[in-house]
Amino acid sequence: MKILKIPKTDLDLFASILPTFGELHAPVRRGRGFAFDRPALWSDVQINYPRTILPPRKLFLPPRELMFHFDPAEGYSSLLAEAATPRVLFGVHAYDIYGLNILDRVFAQGPFRDPYYVARRQHTIIIGVDVEPDEGHFARSMNADFVDSGFDLFLSDLGDHWLVLVGTSRGDDIVVMSGSLFETPSEEDFNEYKRRSTSRRAAYRTHVEMGDLPEILEMEYHSQVWEDLGARCLSCGSCSMVCPTCYCFDVADEAALGSRAGDRVRTWDSCLFKTHALVAGGENFRHSRASRIKFRFYHKQRGFVAEYGRPSCVGCGRCAASCPAGIDITTVIKMIRGQADAHGDRTTAASNPSREPVPAAPGAHLVHPTVGA
Ligand code: SF4
Ligand code: SF4
Repeated sequence: MKILKIPKTDLDLFASILPTFGELHAPVRRGRGFAFDRPALWSDVQINYPRTILPPRKLFLPPRELMFHFDPAEGYSSLLAEAATPRVLFGVHAYDIYGLNILDRVFAQGPFRDPYYVARRQHTIIIGVDVEPDEGHFARSMNADFVDSGFDLFLSDLGDHWLVLVGTSRGDDIVVMSGSLFETPSEEDFNEYKRRSTSRRAAYRTHVEMGDLPEILEMEYHSQVWEDLGARCLSCGSCSMVCPTCYCFDVADEAALGSRAGDRVRTWDSCLFKTHALVAGGENFRHSRASRIKFRFYHKQRGFVAEYGRPSCVGCGRCAASCPAGIDITTVIKMIRGQADAHGDRTTAASNPSREPVPAAPGAHLVHPTVGA
């Protein structure tokens, strides 16, 4: 992997080159929070931010997506070409890149490749950047505090420079087009990188034990913990809407009354919604809130491990920050391990004051009419 550096004073110049490669998306302020969006000006871009409200997943698996039009007279017209718009996604933290790598296993590397997701991934350049962890991050416990693939360029803070990892040939194209902006790092730069890398890892204050968690979940399937959590959970679905690795979706055909022409639409769904496991005939396999919140934990921390070899959680801390009931995944893991009691979780979870609208998914209004609006 090629390693370079760029003076921080030249980042504006570097940024002026990026639109050549596609439309720019980057973290910007949204109320008192942050969101990936198209910045009006480069000065709007926030490089030092704790986490965005919605993860970059929204750019690859949009909250609501028109897949194709259908018309009995004209057949169907695909909207796949729109998914192939070239984009540059700047300022993605390592755990969010890891989240995309996890989604790749489901949508791009399995037996069923999703052409919409794959087109967006192929046409989006990813530029990562360091994060200073706050109390909500536990990416180190999830081995997602560092990522060695899934980015084109990755910027690490060296003080007055950025150290730049060049991950792909597309990243190298940007370097080549940037001409003399990039320099060769010195031995001193590498030592500074190592010092900062160590101190960033030491800055993680929240840790969870992940070893043998699938086995402990196996033992605790009938634990009272799930009933206690079910009594508090509002089934609002916010935790899955903000999660970089949740990927449940619903597909529906929308046609005007009396018409046989319409659109096939895909929207985000959540296993926390009461209608998620409802099937024809009225049977609901996860009727209770306890069963639904239990399912979310078991899928992420046990089922995904069995299928893909690692949990589908990257320790971003978004679910705890967005939960109106103060349910914190790290405390739930401690409760399951017998390291915390039912009152051990945070009751004052950081709110999401800026409220980037959490996408309404089918059935959300059936459970809770206001949360997540
Ligand atoms: S489960 Fe929570 S902490 Fe883990 S990746 Fe999803 S939102 Fe982040
Ligand atoms: S955000 Fe909290 S209250 Fe809402 S569904 Fe998730 S765990 Fe339940």
